[in-house]
Amino acid sequence: MDKEKRTEIGTLGEFGLIDQINKQVQLKQASSLKGIGDDAAVLGPSDKLRVVTTDMLLEGVHFDLSYTPLKHLGFKAIAVNVSDVAAMNAIPTQVTVSLGLSNRFSVEAVEELYEGINLAANHYNLDLVGGDTTSSRAGLIIAVTAIGEVGEEEISYRSGARQNDIVCATGDLGGAFVGLQVLEREKQVFLSDPKMQPQLDKYPYITGRQLRPDARMDIIHELRELKVVPTSMMDISDGLASELFHICKASGVGVAIYEDKLPIDKQTYDTALEFNLDPITCVLNGGEDYELLFTINQKDFKLLEKHPDIHFIGHVTAAGDGKVLVTKSGSAVPLKAQGWQHF
Ligand code: ADP
Ligand code: MG
Repeated sequence: MDKEKRTEIGTLGEFGLIDQINKQVQLKQASSLKGIGDDAAVLGPSDKLRVVTTDMLLEGVHFDLSYTPLKHLGFKAIAVNVSDVAAMNAIPTQVTVSLGLSNRFSVEAVEELYEGINLAANHYNLDLVGGDTTSSRAGLIIAVTAIGEVGEEEISYRSGARQNDIVCATGDLGGAFVGLQVLEREKQVFLSDPKMQPQLDKYPYITGRQLRPDARMDIIHELRELKVVPTSMMDISDGLASELFHICKASGVGVAIYEDKLPIDKQTYDTALEFNLDPITCVLNGGEDYELLFTINQKDFKLLEKHPDIHFIGHVTAAGDGKVLVTKSGSAVPLKAQGWQHF
């Protein structure tokens, strides 16, 4: 795309803009009978359960355009919703995308955003079937709704964890939070001296974790192939400790997790120390990793044991045993769930 070109949205108008968006969209799912262009999308019947989830992203609250490329933001807006679909053990099929646009945004900017949205739609094999477009007084608003499907026998709720189940986490944790610290620091450097260019080359992995998270649909498909249905599941968006609290509360159980089993990438670890942050606190309370936290029955352990990206971090206990972190020295300390405080 030509960076210099700027077309005011007014020259196309709302309907012209929607036409433009529609031109970039091709439907893939057989269940998407009617996408963009009528008063509502039409989805075909299904013998599966349907899950629906929605997430709203606000400029200045959830993202900062001074270091977030619009294409990455479009991808992330879809990925965070797909992550919620994945957390139900479901497969995403459709999304709608609603935009609030201030006059700062040009047609080219919207195109760049939809490049990322379409990239994600292809990556997750889902269809963009509608949305809404309005003007906003301040900044950019992106609201995404995702729909997915799952068999009745396969759905995973937060409430299904049982005593002696094994607690699993995918990927590595804390990276997105530490990546955000790097991005914020470089922004401050840039604001105080615009001649200074951001130094991000040293931190490609963790800044990528923050800017372009990938929902773990790969794990959902693998679990399906192995016929493993998690007894409970959540995605890790607010931090591991907070998600563990949710599962324990919904399931009426306790949990013990082990410090030496917690997955952390070397770049996350080293950079946390550089910022005088405790790496384990970043793993427990950093947010936005969009990995999966789930529990399995012990009988399924053998099937997942050798998986390179599933980590067995603890086990489910009785509610009365509380929620504890067993440290490297072997002492059990109560888990604290800070999570993200938006208000
Ligand atoms: P209405 O006025 O009935 O709400 P719109 O003119 O807003 O209809 O929308 C027309 C069509 O374009 C609908 O199919 C709607 O889902 C779709 N649409 C509107 N905005 C977007 C958007 N930002 N992204 C994708 N589809 C959109
Ligand atoms: Mg509308």
